[in-house]
Amino acid sequence: MKALVVVCDGLADRPVKTLGRRTPLEAADTPHLDELAERGITGIVDPVAPGIRAGSDTSHLAILGYDPCKVYTGRGPFEAAGMGIELREGDIAWRCNFATVDKNLVVEDRRAGRIEDTSELIDALRSIRLEGVEVKLASLAYRCALVFRGKGLSHMVSDTDPHATGVKVHPAQPLDNSAEARRTAQLLEEFSKRAHEILEKHEVNTRRRKHGLPPANYLLARGAGVVPTLEDFHRRYRMRGACIATTAIIKGIARLAGMKVIEAEKDYIARAKQALLALEDVDFLLMNIKEADEAGHDHSPERKVEVIEAIDAMVGEFLDFAEENYVVVMSDHTTPCSVGDHTGDVVPVLIAGPEVRTDEVTQFNERACAKGGLNRIRGMDIMPILLDLLNKSEKFGA
Ligand SMILES: [Zn+2]
Repeated sequence: MKALVVVCDGLADRPVKTLGRRTPLEAADTPHLDELAERGITGIVDPVAPGIRAGSDTSHLAILGYDPCKVYTGRGPFEAAGMGIELREGDIAWRCNFATVDKNLVVEDRRAGRIEDTSELIDALRSIRLEGVEVKLASLAYRCALVFRGKGLSHMVSDTDPHATGVKVHPAQPLDNSAEARRTAQLLEEFSKRAHEILEKHEVNTRRRKHGLPPANYLLARGAGVVPTLEDFHRRYRMRGACIATTAIIKGIARLAGMKVIEAEKDYIARAKQALLALEDVDFLLMNIKEADEAGHDHSPERKVEVIEAIDAMVGEFLDFAEENYVVVMSDHTTPCSVGDHTGDVVPVLIAGPEVRTDEVTQFNERACAKGGLNRIRGMDIMPILLDLLNKSEKFGA
């Protein structure tokens, strides 16, 4: 028996006025998700704990059974790992954006016009040398990861990203009184200054200015984190694990847990086939489907309904698999279209498979699943419940 966990990012929502006070999941036509709910056991999940607004990263850590309260120090390390930087325990990592600033360092565009190719810029920045630390960089369009490796560093450093336009770049400041935090803040300041000098006069930006495009002339850093040790997934669960995702942060979590990472196909049905193929080689597959979250962030319930119906078609490909194996479908947090950001509401979950004790619930949505047999659980409970159903958990006691 194998296990497939489908995490629909930001799927859960609150009742939406324009949808007749239904959530997008209630309003959408979801015959396959409903079939799995009927064949399975359902419930609601606090991704981290009641009322806590989980990030995708902390929630996915919890779903994989890694206590985010113990292992999470910031998003930087997971982003960096997801972008392919080989990390070591103790490295300090930031998520950065290529941004546009004016001559007074006032941020004009936090994504530098969503610049697509930053490979030449990253190459130029690799020439920066800092005393006593090794600098590592990777980028994916305007997104970038920055890593400092060396002794005497700390992740207790504030963001240089002001998280807004029309304001000046923030100075990197130590967040505690340690010499390590002061030194790291100084090093980040020095790196930012030199990066700005290099980017300002780089020919890529000269060309962009000539074409009326915003230059990518600053790296805004945020989410400093120290690279944590995640116990190897295979060693921990005696299951070979893989992950299919599109976002760097989720791929990074899987990579740091020693799981195989597979780049997701764009098309949902192709993605389902990719998952079933991957499951021929591994025992456990985590799939992250990002698009519902984006619709939530864009305040678009109509778009979210469309995404949910596409996800439902994809889930249709898993109905046979769920006869002999276990399939979990859940959301990692709520992203209400009314709010445009994550909230701390509970999310629905279903577990379908050969030996689940079914309940009365026949629909997969926020309110129906609240009546399910799993009742209310936490993200950290998913793996133990799954291991138990797979008859892989160890007995506690005699
Ligand atoms: Zn998420």
